Amino acid sequence: MSAPLPGLRVAVVGGGIVGLACADELVRAGHDVHVFDPAPAAGATHAAAGMLAPAGEAWFGEEALLRLGLDSLARWPAYAASLERRSGRDVDLRTGGTLLVAADRDDLAELRRACAALETYAVRADELDRRSLRALEPTVSARVAGGALLPDDCHVAPRRVAGALLDLLGERVVRARATPTPDGVVLDDGRRVVADVVVLATGAVGVPHVRPVRGEVVRVRTRDAPTRVLRARVHGDRVYVVPRAHGELVVGATEEEHPAGDGPPLPTVGGLARLLETARLLLPGLDTAEVLEVVARDRPGSPDNGPLLGPLAGPGPARVLVAGGHYRGGVLLAPVTAVTIRAHVDGLDVPPAARPFTPDRFATRPGPDDKDHQPCTCTSTDDPTSCPTAPC
Ligand SMILES: Cc1cc2nc3c(=O)[nH]c(=O)nc-3n(C[C@H](O)[C@H](O)[C@H](O)COP(=O)(O)OP(=O)(O)OC[C@H]3O[C@@H](n4cnc5c(N)ncnc54)[C@H](O)[C@@H]3O)c2cc1C
Repeated sequence: MSAPLPGLRVAVVGGGIVGLACADELVRAGHDVHVFDPAPAAGATHAAAGMLAPAGEAWFGEEALLRLGLDSLARWPAYAASLERRSGRDVDLRTGGTLLVAADRDDLAELRRACAALETYAVRADELDRRSLRALEPTVSARVAGGALLPDDCHVAPRRVAGALLDLLGERVVRARATPTPDGVVLDDGRRVVADVVVLATGAVGVPHVRPVRGEVVRVRTRDAPTRVLRARVHGDRVYVVPRAHGELVVGATEEEHPAGDGPPLPTVGGLARLLETARLLLPGLDTAEVLEVVARDRPGSPDNGPLLGPLAGPGPARVLVAGGHYRGGVLLAPVTAVTIRAHVDGLDVPPAARPFTPDRFATRPGPDDKDHQPCTCTSTDDPTSCPTAPC
């Protein structure tokens, strides 16, 4: 890849999987990129289970998001191969599909609704009775009601992906908090960095319209690990189990709204107890599993669950692009996000599936008499009065 323009100075604020993927893409396109983050890859990326699951996450009314997810899923095999080749690291991309599992009749009715939604979008979901489900995955409880195979969903190890990206970016990653300014960013120690483009990728904080949605996961190790991702509804409660190398499983995830500034995300007794109890009903062999780690992090939620990808009207000469609000799908969406942000930087065509996800879709629509209205350009959710164009 080569940049059609001479290399631009790009400041990426936020070094989670999204910011790192954008930075890597922009470096490869010939730009002069720096990533600013006091704790790279320690946000939601650190907790993510790594499901690449547009079908597993699909629901009625979210077709554009499903299409974006399918676009990004299709990019993953080449993306993972490129990361592995360039970094020498194995990112543990696994195919083989996802099993949806229903514990009782009500759960099965819900599972069938999900499969019906997929059918309307022409996405494959093969329903399975209990016997065929357990033939595919004998570790699942003999008491489940049934399930379905989503053959195309995959999974990857997000910490390995972030590790590979950090290796590739090397000294371009600066361990410092940054705040966008009209002509670049200012760091916490007062240093000013001039940039032509600022990419705002700060996850659950500091992106307009994005809010934190807390999630807890437990990592365990067992000899009875399933071979596929399981996404189950167990008497109304949801749980997923994602197999990793060496018998490790990621069991997740709780989902709870938290006001911004509500303190650091910490796992709770109630959340973990519900998660583990639900997982044990699904996989009885978990009883003897060893607990390795419990983690809580905030997902970057958006009003319509879709990401914000594209320009914000900024107050100065530096162009501001947002790569945020990826909610439950930042790992899945990292490749298409990187290509989309690069397209905005270089004036190339944005992938069609990404076009509906411009940040201005949430700006207040101007009324018929409101000719001077401009979309919100505020880059801080902490202080709405600082919005330069309108109170947001
Ligand atoms: C429990 C859980 C499970 C998940 N499972 C999956 C999954 O299976 N599949 C999937 O696709 N997605 C999953 N997700 C969602 C996914 O993790 C997120 O969508 C993704 O990590 C978002 O990436 P990000 O880079 O935008 O944010 P983050 O990973 O949160 O990174 C944001 C970074 O910005 C930095 N930052 C913040 N403010 C500043 C500042 N002012 N200056 C500099 N740096 C700053 C932070 O330090 C952080 O490193 C899961 C999330 C959670 C919580």
